[in-house]
Amino acid sequence: MAHPPVTPEDVQRLKTMIGPDHVSTGPSNLDLHSRDESYHPPRRPDVVVWPQCTEHVVAAVRLAADKGYAVTPWCAGTSLEGNPIPVAGGIVLDFTEMNRVLEIRPDDLQVDVEVGIQYRELNDQLRRHGLFFPPDPGAWACLGGMIGNNASGVRTVAYGATRDCVLGLEVVTADGQVLRLGSRAIKSSSGYDLVRLLVGSEGTLGIVTRATLRLRGLPPEVLTVVATFPTVAAACAAVGDMIRYGLNPAALELMDAAVVAEINRDRDMGLDEKPMLFLEFHNVNDAALESQYEMVAGVLDEHGAVRVDRGIGAEERTRLWEARHGALESIKRNHPGRSVLLVDACVPISRYADMVDRAKAAVAAEGVTGFFWGHAGDGNLHLGLLFDPADAGARDAVQRVNRSVVAHAIAAGGTCTGEHGVGVGKLGFVEAEHGPALEVMRRIKAALDPGGILNPGKMLPPG
Ligand SMILES: Cc1cc2nc3c(=O)[nH]c(=O)nc-3n(C[C@H](O)[C@H](O)[C@H](O)COP(=O)(O)OP(=O)(O)OC[C@H]3O[C@@H](n4cnc5c(N)ncnc54)[C@H](O)[C@@H]3O)c2cc1C
Repeated sequence: MAHPPVTPEDVQRLKTMIGPDHVSTGPSNLDLHSRDESYHPPRRPDVVVWPQCTEHVVAAVRLAADKGYAVTPWCAGTSLEGNPIPVAGGIVLDFTEMNRVLEIRPDDLQVDVEVGIQYRELNDQLRRHGLFFPPDPGAWACLGGMIGNNASGVRTVAYGATRDCVLGLEVVTADGQVLRLGSRAIKSSSGYDLVRLLVGSEGTLGIVTRATLRLRGLPPEVLTVVATFPTVAAACAAVGDMIRYGLNPAALELMDAAVVAEINRDRDMGLDEKPMLFLEFHNVNDAALESQYEMVAGVLDEHGAVRVDRGIGAEERTRLWEARHGALESIKRNHPGRSVLLVDACVPISRYADMVDRAKAAVAAEGVTGFFWGHAGDGNLHLGLLFDPADAGARDAVQRVNRSVVAHAIAAGGTCTGEHGVGVGKLGFVEAEHGPALEVMRRIKAALDPGGILNPGKMLPPG
């Protein structure tokens, strides 16, 4: 579906409705909203709008619906698959100025927010109530983008992904209606679950303005463990057992020796350059944590861990998690001029070790440079494939590895993307993964957005 460019008269109309300071066609603002953190090519929108309230979103969407303009919601722009790139031009709605915490209800472990708030800022405000919002994608992401992508993070193994932590949404539909979805109850059997449909829809079904989030109590005791292994296979086997035996890690992250070396080089961490697991355990008191750890130590030992560091203090813990969260950035900084294609396949935990093996074989067969890490406790592999964007042969080689790993993940009952979303980068895998259900998805899209104005070109391959 073609979308016309926004006319100067309609830019003026947006300025009148929303305020001249909140609407820009300046080249630097268009550039800032033309690319995310991925290797996908940029595309400028025609105009960027910073709504200050839901009514501003309604006004912009109604104008877009009337004229057939594309509308792409935008939060921090940290996506890794081109999810917020306005590939059809049009209007970008940047939510970073709708960033208020509206109400914290500590007794219900809930909070209402505007979606432009960063999750780190939200957690700073929640800390004084002894609460936190668990999904932590690491980058400086905002709630709207986390909801858009159904983001997860290092603690998803214990607390779930964003979808598991959203109870209600305020949504502006493609024809400019405002809907309130879900409730404050932590469970419900009423109606179709439109909250779960909207979370992870990448702004293609509706634009989220507010959310009611489910919180958790801050854990009284935290234990962080760093374990090194002789091989990635041994580390993967330990991960499988840790999950199977119900040892309840709050985080269970894998890095191969090459990733540890990249982090050391970038951040001077002094870590052993061997396959490594970062683990975290949360419990009610020291004694409970100790007995939990006894079993963990048994598993680490059984799988030949060569070094286990525990008793890591709060400061060092923060340093380790920042390094882990920043692994991709470290790789990029260490290899200027290179791009990274990040595979995000996810499989049932019993198939994780096999997926890693096959991915290693695919990397070796193509002779490319690959860095292995990921949320191992969730069965989620991140394989960073380094390539020179100016070299067509290198681009093709990393795409062949990508296709081979994803095909294996789907055949193993998994998915092409555990958390980064489809965006533009995974469009080619959606049909293989969903089969005839893709047609149902297309009908849902047509019902909710008949003009195809909401973030066009994402999530569903052209039919
Ligand atoms: C170094 C690094 C590490 C990362 N690690 C992780 C990780 O561990 N786990 C993980 O899940 N992701 C990770 N990511 C990817 C990214 O940070 C997440 O997907 C994050 O949720 C994106 O949030 P954002 O605010 O940047 O959203 P954006 O990139 O701005 O938008 C994301 C999607 O949501 C849509 N959207 C934005 N606002 C709205 C709205 N109001 N209503 C409806 N749709 C909307 C956009 O159109 C887009 O499709 C990482 C990225 C980087 C750069």
